[in-house]
This record gives sequence, structure tokens and C-alpha cells, in this order.
Amino acid sequence: MKKKKITIALDGYSSTGKSTMAKWLARRVGYAYVDTGAMYRAVTLFCMENGLIDGDKVDEEALRGRLGDIRITFCPNDEGRSETYLNGRNVETEIRGMEVSGKVSIIAAIGFVRADMVRQQQAMGRNKGIVMDGRDIGTVVFPDAEMKVFVTASAQVRAQRRYDELRAKGDTSTTLEQVLENVTERDRLDTTRQESPLRQAPDAVVLDNSQMTIDEQNEWLLKLFEERTTTKPKK
Ligand code: C5P
Repeated sequence: MKKKKITIALDGYSSTGKSTMAKWLARRVGYAYVDTGAMYRAVTLFCMENGLIDGDKVDEEALRGRLGDIRITFCPNDEGRSETYLNGRNVETEIRGMEVSGKVSIIAAIGFVRADMVRQQQAMGRNKGIVMDGRDIGTVVFPDAEMKVFVTASAQVRAQRRYDELRAKGDTSTTLEQVLENVTERDRLDTTRQESPLRQAPDAVVLDNSQMTIDEQNEWLLKLFEERTTTKPKK
């Protein structure tokens, strides 16, 4: 039996642990990993730092003109974990904060921003052997991906996870209610936007991980990966 190199698309709601799963799988099977949410987050940070967003209003014309000034790269840290750089500056911590989380879905709804990100993502996955997580990977970026997973969990569970994560990073001011509100609002914006709304690809396998441990989830993923990469010999 031969192993073929495939493209893996992990889509789903906010804070479902998609990136934890994607990172684990990529490392386990020796594939590259791309966190597309980090790309939209980095663009959002750029907008915030350059006065291109005021409240919920984006200066789209100015952003269009400056899109070429935004360079997003990924680089592993000392522990081998991928971190996000915006024009050469490590922004990993900043892009995960509540301020960026509160604006990112507005920026991600802009058509020309998406077109630019999708183009970069498709280039990164040109040679397969990649795990990409996001909202539109199985539907828009790689509609032909051999393995598509749509991850979901209850909003309460997701908010609690994100809250615990913020706490662990030293954020003691954000409340669980605020996180729940952010998760629910991003779900609403991501599923109702005009441009590439979050939806399940018809050929995606659904994973509801509300009641699953990380080990169970990883085992499930690996099993699916084995199925999708094993070509049975022709009789
Ligand atoms: O995955 P993460 O929660 O970091 O993504 C942040 C936001 O970026 C999402 O809420 C969504 O608005 C946007 N996003 C997107 N398409 C992707 C990845 C993320 O619209 N492929």
C-alpha cells in the first residue's frame, strides 16, 4: 500500500480548537501547517495600527491601497511552534488579544482582503502536504482537498476554552461573558457575511468535539488521515 501526499482542510466555528488539532496533525504526519485565521488577524492589527479602522468602520479605499504593504510570514519559535510575523515583527501575542478578536471578522468580510489572502494560501499549498485551518479552506481555498473536516462545539464550551487560554496568558480582566459574546458575534458575522461565509463543504466530515478529550480528537483525526492517504492496490 502506497501513501500519497494530500491537502487537509480544517474549517469550523471560532475557538473549536481547530488550530490545536491542525498543528498536532501536521507535526505527527510531517506536513506544513498554516493558520489562516492568524493572517486575517495580522491584517486587522495592521489596520488598527495605521488608523484604517475606526469603531466598526473600515477605510476600505485606504486599505486597498496599502494591501501591498502587508507582509505576513510564519516562523517557528524555540519550541518549534509557528509564530506570526507582520512585516518582520513578531505579533503572535498581539493578534490573539481581545482587541483584534473584536475587529477581525469585520476585516475578514472584505472581498479584496479575502481574495489576497486566498491567493497567498493557495500558493502555500501548491505542493500539497499541508494542513490549513480556517473558515473557507474546504469550500474556497482548496475545494479539491482530499481530507476536509468541519469542526464544531457548543458556544459555551468554546467560550470556556478561549477564556481559560486568555487566563493562562495572564489576561485577568476579560470575563467569561465577554468571551462568550465575542464567540457568538464572530459566529454570526462569519456565517452571514456575503463573501465566502462559513459553511460546511458537502464532502466535509463533521467533528463535534464538545465532549471529546484532545487525545480522542487526535486519534479520530489520524484515523481519517490514514484512510485518506492509503491507496489500495488495484486488483
Ligand atoms: O481562526 P481564528 O479564530 O483565529 O480566525 C479569526 C477570524 O478570522 C474568524 O473569526 C474569521 O472572521 C476570520 N477567518 C476567515 N477565514 C479564514 C480564517 C479566519 O474569515 N480562513
